[in-house]
Amino acid sequence: MADSHAYVIALGSNMRVPDVGAPRAVIGAALDALEEQGLAIHAASRVRASAPIGPSLRHYANAAALVETDKRPPAMLAMLQSVEQAFARQRRGQDWRSRTLDLDIVLWSGGVWLSRDLAIPHPWFRAREFVLRPAAEVAPHWRDPATRLTLRQLAARGA
Ligand code: AMP
Repeated sequence: MADSHAYVIALGSNMRVPDVGAPRAVIGAALDALEEQGLAIHAASRVRASAPIGPSLRHYANAAALVETDKRPPAMLAMLQSVEQAFARQRRGQDWRSRTLDLDIVLWSGGVWLSRDLAIPHPWFRAREFVLRPAAEVAPHWRDPATRLTLRQLAARGA
């Protein structure tokens, strides 16, 4: 690619999508959808499920992917949001607080991006184990531009 950008993307879901299935299947379908949008997926982590904490809470599924594209951060965010919306439209009469699909930019090969509606690295990723561990799985040697630690080091340090 002439103008190539690598990203670590975080994927999360905590609800079933009609015609797709449980959160784990939603993550797989989301990766397919991203590929259809022209992203090259170089690595995908395993999908981690977290148990619901209370009787009314749903399972979460989380994963990360290392991707490559010609899109700069604003276009990348717009594309991720269009995929999120395509999945959200499929929820029929579900609780609006449930997250059909959440796609976040964790890291970008260009380093830091700060604008009104986009912050890279993602501000919370170092403190969220469900983001950090999958991210370290797909890009263990990627260095966080803020702390200068690799994802493996950040994950070992503990969220
Ligand atoms: P949420 O759906 O809770 O993940 O929040 C989405 C909002 O966060 C969007 O409106 C984005 O503009 C904003 N945002 C800021 N930084 C990021 C990032 N690194 N990745 C994705 N969304 C981001």
